[in-house]
Formats: sequence, C-alpha cells, structure tokens
Amino acid sequence: MYRSILVPIDISESELTRQVIPYVQAHAVINIAKVHFLTVIPSHPYYSTLGLAYSAALPKLKDLQEEALSRLNEIVKEFKIPMEKVQTHAVTGTPKDQILKLADSVKADLIIIASHRPDMTTYLLGSNAAAVVRHAKCPVLVVR
Ligand code: ADP
Repeated sequence: MYRSILVPIDISESELTRQVIPYVQAHAVINIAKVHFLTVIPSHPYYSTLGLAYSAALPKLKDLQEEALSRLNEIVKEFKIPMEKVQTHAVTGTPKDQILKLADSVKADLIIIASHRPDMTTYLLGSNAAAVVRHAKCPVLVVR
C-alpha cells in the first residue's frame, strides 16, 4: 500500500498529463494515499548571467510561483481525486533535482512520471524522467 505518491507535472505539456491520469487515479483509489503534485519552474541561469534575474524585465519569482500553482491546481482537477488526498507544490529549480528532493521530503513511496514528450521520439526517456528513474529511492512508474 502506498501512503505517499508523487506526480511531477510539466504544466506546458497537457498531452503528457492526459497520459498519466488513469495511472494516478488507479493508485489513488486503490490505496489510501496522499497524492503530491509538483511543478518545477526552471530557473534561468542565462538571464542571471545577464544580470536580469531581479530586474523589472522579468516577472517576479513570487508571481511566477503563484501563477504556476494556480495552473497546476486547474490541471489537478482533471484527475478527479478527492481534494483531501491532494497536495500541490510549485518550486523553482532544475526539474529532476526538485522532483527527487520533494520525493524525499514527502517520503514518497511511488513516483508516477511520463517517459518523455510525444514529439521527442528520439528519446526513450526524457532527461528528467531518466534522472528520476536512476536516482529515486522508491519505485517509479514510467507511463508511455
Ligand atoms: P522531455 O525532455 O521529453 O520533456 P522530461 O524527462 O523532461 O522529458 O519529462 C518527462 C516527465 O518529467 C514529465 O512528464 C513530468 O512528469 C516530468 N517533468 C518534466 N519537466 C517538469 C517540470 N518542469 N516540472 C515537473 N515535472 C516535470
């Protein structure tokens, strides 16, 4: 039985999200679980080398985070999981690092992730999915 399931969501990829929905539903229904949904806002080292990171030219980090979280909350509704089982997270950083970090902090005993973007057919596993499979301390369900 799973107590804590982690589902990383790339909010720009609705096709990927659609793929994982039935698998998350199956596990969340069978198991009395908390489902953690995470979206990572990639940090932009390129901007920061230009000294733009804190300038008015870029949206404020807090605004980005709030916007990402509200988008994630909308997406999560499609999963039709009882609200009391759901927790959403939006953080900045490198997706793979932040996914692994949250997996630790919520003591995830299952991670459900899509293998890669449908258009990236050359890769069997995307770079974030590959790193999560390789480094996670718990089972990872790769949806393809
Ligand atoms: P690709 O390079 O084809 O996009 P990825 O490995 O980046 O492949 O994506 C596979 C999965 O990794 C996604 O379905 C999602 O679960 C997770 N992922 C990728 N980017 C993010 C992100 N920014 N935030 C949360 N999860 C992500």
